[in-house]
Amino acid sequence: MRCPFCSHDDTKVIDSRLVAEGGQVRRRRECTACSERYTTYETAELLMPRIIKGNGNREPFDEEKMRSGILRALEKRPVSVEDIEAAINHIKKALQATGEREVKSLVVGELVMEHLQRLDQVAFVRFASVYRDFKDLEEFRQEIDRLTNEPAESES
Ligand SMILES: [Zn+2]
Repeated sequence: MRCPFCSHDDTKVIDSRLVAEGGQVRRRRECTACSERYTTYETAELLMPRIIKGNGNREPFDEEKMRSGILRALEKRPVSVEDIEAAINHIKKALQATGEREVKSLVVGELVMEHLQRLDQVAFVRFASVYRDFKDLEEFRQEIDRLTNEPAESES
């Protein structure tokens, strides 16, 4: 990068260390021309991808919209706010980790379902019944049967 003092395009790194619990690299640089020193911070760019809706429209990821969908599914269910927020954070991280600039809304729905399934089976079925395209009531009933017959996964 260019020196902010003289615009010379060569600097040497004189010190480099991890900061912000390893989430950032702090570099002390010295300009090879004017010898001024300055600091740069390097962070991985983690942007939320845009969401491709079913009709092909793109819209920004809406965390509140996702949260309200999750809360609706979890209404009157014995799941703590901490667990819900942790799940929301995991979903956001997973979306960022795709590295994609755009993801289908279906991907978000699947991630939400995956986490709801771990949090609460009833909430999962509620959410799935809205998100998944259950062809008819019979298919929905089979899904519920499958869930109720499945031995509960042990989560640490
Ligand atoms: Zn300089």
